[in-house]
Amino acid sequence: MSDHVCKACGSTDLDLFYKVDRIPVHSCLMVDSRAEALAFPKGDLELGFCNACGFIQNVKFDPKPQNYSPAYEETQAFSPRFIRFLEEICDDQIRKFGLKPGKTALEIGCGKGEFLVTLCERSGASGIGIDPGYRPERTVSEAADRLQFIQDFYGPKYRHLQADHVSCRHTLEHIHEVRTFMELVRESIGDRPHVDVFFELPDAERVLTEPAFWDIYYEHCSYFTYGSLARLFRRTGFDVTNLWKAYDDQYLMLEAKPVDGPTEPHLALEDDLAKTRAQVAQFKAVIGPELQRLRDQFLRWQSEGRTVALWGSGSKAVSLITTLKIAEQVAAVVDINPHKHGKFLAGCGNEILSPQALTEIRPDVVVAVNPIYLNEIGQDLAKLGLEPELTAL
Ligand SMILES: [Zn+2]
Repeated sequence: MSDHVCKACGSTDLDLFYKVDRIPVHSCLMVDSRAEALAFPKGDLELGFCNACGFIQNVKFDPKPQNYSPAYEETQAFSPRFIRFLEEICDDQIRKFGLKPGKTALEIGCGKGEFLVTLCERSGASGIGIDPGYRPERTVSEAADRLQFIQDFYGPKYRHLQADHVSCRHTLEHIHEVRTFMELVRESIGDRPHVDVFFELPDAERVLTEPAFWDIYYEHCSYFTYGSLARLFRRTGFDVTNLWKAYDDQYLMLEAKPVDGPTEPHLALEDDLAKTRAQVAQFKAVIGPELQRLRDQFLRWQSEGRTVALWGSGSKAVSLITTLKIAEQVAAVVDINPHKHGKFLAGCGNEILSPQALTEIRPDVVVAVNPIYLNEIGQDLAKLGLEPELTAL
């Protein structure tokens, strides 16, 4: 028992199981100088597992310093692998839910709008996207006249926005008051039972079992498995109709329909509370030695005089560097997103460079922050005429 309350179900039966102090409150905000990066605001993280519903939250999370502005650079849309994935999920949603001209799709937390634009281009539907970090100049599309973007946080003032399809991708994990948020989504759909709801977010089961600690960072205050996500939806007036994983099982996908009140579980995948509890216990047992092992690896490369570059500068890179405290052991951080070049990693101080810069740095080891891009990275390195040892976390 603790004095913390589960934001998904209200229980106080929480087990605290992982702690990282003084980590940057953002890992995707663009920072212009090393000094600014090092002085970046920091917060503490301590994960609590709810024994009643399986939801995992950062009990130390303080929503106040969160500031998602257009300088927030979360997009992965420069990777061909990611674009293919985006097109696949759009086509899947269009086929299942009959999106076509005359229908409207609403995306809550649309980021730079890549999903909504693709969805509307490929279906002929109209779209409304809401996100404080939206950048109008990034939307170049034949569907532009059917698209409306609102640069703001989703909230009660947008409950009048009606749509046939409501999506929310990679947003719920940033929400602290998850139950209040889902109640708002349900309320805004109102008495329109035909509306189709689609959510996509990181899967906590993979984070626990790998253990993928680099996917745990301050901005992600909420972590879900199949069961805890479905329980939240059922509690807030949805019937969960489909659950699956995608993108090499990194993402959790959910489809739901609005109903009048709470619903009972009926999907086999939802029944995971005991399994999640065991996975949390296992994570707690192995994470200390695992962090030590990885830190030792970077220290060994350094003592052998080998130059190490990280490929990928997103939240995973920031979490890896700040959790292991290896900013000095990483000579270069590269990214294929040109909007990031010349900027610095928040909380770490490492500069983000173009892959081209590796021809001068000539790294001995390149660490792929996300193994899903290993093939792409290998091909890019070959094009640059480089043959470093390429490894993933
Ligand atoms: Zn709970």
